[in-house]
Parts: sequence; structure tokens; C-alpha cells
Amino acid sequence: MKIAILALQGAFAEHQQMLHKLGVETFLVRNLADWQQQKDGLIIPGGESTAMTRIMHDQRMWQPLQDAIREGLPVFGTCAGMIMLDRNHLATMDMEVKRNAYGRQLGSFYTESAFADMVDVKMPFIRAPYIEEVGEGVEVLSVLDGHIIAARQGRQLVTSFHPELTDDTRVHEYFLNMKSGH
Ligand code: GLN
Repeated sequence: MKIAILALQGAFAEHQQMLHKLGVETFLVRNLADWQQQKDGLIIPGGESTAMTRIMHDQRMWQPLQDAIREGLPVFGTCAGMIMLDRNHLATMDMEVKRNAYGRQLGSFYTESAFADMVDVKMPFIRAPYIEEVGEGVEVLSVLDGHIIAARQGRQLVTSFHPELTDDTRVHEYFLNMKSGH
């Protein structure tokens, strides 16, 4: 298994370390040539969704990524990566995401909460978005204070928080096991 990690900007190195810890091969994607390599999944990291959007267009990567995800390539988006998959960006997931949803005062915080069938998952939030609305095909995996912070649609997984910044490997393992769409 080999996972591509979008490395245009943001927190990609931490995802790479996490996957190596789990014994999974990775490669970093900085341009279209990198993207051509054979892959079994894609991680879109946290960072700045506006910058990521601009660089993806500059590198002519928007359409190829969108096509690959629509064709069923498993994808895991964290934080800005979640924003990239919503209706207003790559539009591969049927959801509306609110950027910087926790405001300036509570821009960054840490909590432990439930995700899918797991409890006490470690969740660092950094100027995080949350999901405001989901379409029918989207399964909600985690809710915090009434807001959706993790969801899945087929082989697409998104989290508002950054599991790659913790020693808790379970969310990445969930992604790696997410073979079939439903
Ligand atoms: N605030 C960023 C954005 O809107 C996301 C923050 C993050 O990825 N840690 O793109």
C-alpha cells in the first residue's frame, strides 16, 4: 500500500511520520509529475485552504485530483484538507464547511472525544473548520458541542482536528481500512 500526501504547504510531514509508524509507504506530491505515481490513497493535510487552492490551480492539479477522487481514490482531509473537499472547493463531498469556525478567541484547543466507534480520540484543533450541513450520502462520525467535526462519504474521510499531531494512530488506521464505499 502506498499513500500520496499532498505537500503543497501545511502539515504534511506529520501525516508522513504517522503513516511510517504504521508501516505504510508514502510519497509527497508537490506537482503533477509526483501525482502520476501509483497510489492507493491520498491525504490532504491542514494548512491554509486559500493557499492550497491557488497552488493546486497553478500546478494544474485541480482537475486530476478531482477526477481521481470522483473515480474512488480514498482520500483523508484534515482541517484545511476538509475544506478542500467541500461543495465550494473540489466538491467531491456533499457538505458545507465553515472556515475558522471557532473564531479568534478559541482558535486552537485540545479535547478528547468519540470518533466512529472509538472513544477518547485525541483531537487538537487549530483554527479549525466544522461542517455546517451534510447531504444524504454523508455519514457523521463525530459531533462536538453540536457541530460535526468528522464525517465520511464513500471512501472520503474528513476531520476538523489534527490526529497526525498526536500519538493516537486510530483515525489513520480507520482511513487505511476504509476500503469499500457505502
Ligand atoms: N484556517 C485554515 C483554513 O481556513 C485551516 C487551518 C488548519 O488547517 N489548521 O484553511
